Amino acid sequence: MTRLVVLGGNAAGMSAASKAKRRGPDLEVVVLEASQDVSYSVCGTPFLVQQDIEDAADLRMLDEEGLQKRGITVRRGAKATAFNPYSKEVAFESKGGRDSIAYDKLLVATGSSAVVPFKAPPPKGVFALRRLEETVALEAFIKEERPKKAAVVGAGAVGLEMASAFAQRGLDVHLYEKGPRPLPMFDQDMTQGMPAWLEKKGVTLHVGTEVAELGEQGRGRLGSVVTKAGKEQRADLAVVAAGLQPNTQFAVKAGVHALNTGHILVDDHMRTNFHDVWAAGDCVAARHIVSGRPTPVPLALPSNRMGRIAGDSIAASLERIPGPSQTFTGVVGTFLTRLWDMGFAKTGLSEEEAKAERMDAVAVHVESTAKADYMPRPGRVNLKLVADRDSGKLLGAQLMGPGDSALRINAAALAVQVGMTARRLSEAETAYSPSFGPVWDPLVVAAAELAKACRK
Ligand SMILES: Cc1cc2nc3c(=O)[nH]c(=O)nc-3n(C[C@H](O)[C@H](O)[C@H](O)COP(=O)(O)OP(=O)(O)OC[C@H]3O[C@@H](n4cnc5c(N)ncnc54)[C@H](O)[C@@H]3O)c2cc1C
Repeated sequence: MTRLVVLGGNAAGMSAASKAKRRGPDLEVVVLEASQDVSYSVCGTPFLVQQDIEDAADLRMLDEEGLQKRGITVRRGAKATAFNPYSKEVAFESKGGRDSIAYDKLLVATGSSAVVPFKAPPPKGVFALRRLEETVALEAFIKEERPKKAAVVGAGAVGLEMASAFAQRGLDVHLYEKGPRPLPMFDQDMTQGMPAWLEKKGVTLHVGTEVAELGEQGRGRLGSVVTKAGKEQRADLAVVAAGLQPNTQFAVKAGVHALNTGHILVDDHMRTNFHDVWAAGDCVAARHIVSGRPTPVPLALPSNRMGRIAGDSIAASLERIPGPSQTFTGVVGTFLTRLWDMGFAKTGLSEEEAKAERMDAVAVHVESTAKADYMPRPGRVNLKLVADRDSGKLLGAQLMGPGDSALRINAAALAVQVGMTARRLSEAETAYSPSFGPVWDPLVVAAAELAKACRK
């Protein structure tokens, strides 16, 4: 029997395992997962903290019965530490000590870990939420210790989601960002209203403030946050969301080609430079459709999709005459988050990112009502579109708006993905209903404005 060993049992790993087993039912599939959970929704964890979801078990998407039905063997608590692409063996550590397993096909889907740039081990009360078990531990901490002051380090999407969750739970929240603004992947002109808005929501934002140390207050417990400028602020609880690093040290050591950051380089079938070794998910740098560069995009759908494509390609490689297998067309980094009642969304490149790529980018910024303006509480949508001046091709979009209005990003994402011009998007026949938007959808209005600034 041919054996596929999958390293990492979440979005990418389990999608690959399931797909490979469906296409190649004779394949033996063994998943090594470092934590105790497989197939869980990390994306749902802020909602657990926010208490929209009551039970962490609801975030587990595949139980033992489901795994058995799919014919997948899982070894929990098994952390891969090395592999040899010539003898085709993976070394791993588990409670039982060190062990190894032989493979015929190997998939690296080990995701990424939070960078915790402080003295290790951190004091009690410090969390980096990448695994479900970490969120479960955070929940237990909140219930037992009843913290009053929460510090969140890093004002990217995860940091903001956690700050919002803590504030909605009644904690006094301080959000620290070493850069000049929150949501750094957005253009500066899109986020300038955020500090005042966050303040109103009960979150104190400290931009340009690097946290240098997490202070202890005795018995190994967190007591304060100390900034690089030497300011000390009380904190009973801290979440560190200050960046990610791929869990690929062992693969890079084995000779897998990767970026300097450790993100693995793959082809359109998720194959690495080694025969019979694939990689998928957050640990990979896939081709960015707009920039053309291998780019890490730590998001759920690309990870699931890459996993599925890897699984398909692995199963195809077993066929006597390999049938066609799916290809990965690349990423545009389509992202959406809800903070309180507002959605924040982005696809493709921001104007700043496009200019950093030396593209001749033009952009327009429109503000519009989120519904027909005679409707009660129509709200405001803030939308920015970026295009290449010469060709008129859309490079990216950023959007902020109340309720579900930010879902417009999906139309923009498709336009960016297929290389549509601003002029073509301005001709889109969008649906109209007063409760969903004005007759002229903000996306169409922005595209028409942008087309005027482009040569085509
Ligand atoms: C709080 C939070 C909220 C998020 N919200 C969203 C969202 O709303 N939308 C969105 O698109 N994305 C979101 N994401 C990102 C999304 O969760 C990830 O992109 C996705 O989980 C990546 O899947 P993956 O399988 O590549 O990696 P992971 O989900 O990280 O899974 C990798 C698995 O590998 C295991 N592992 C690591 N090292 C080893 C090893 N050496 N041996 C064996 N196993 C190993 C890990 O324990 C882990 O279970 C969020 C992330 C976080 C942290």
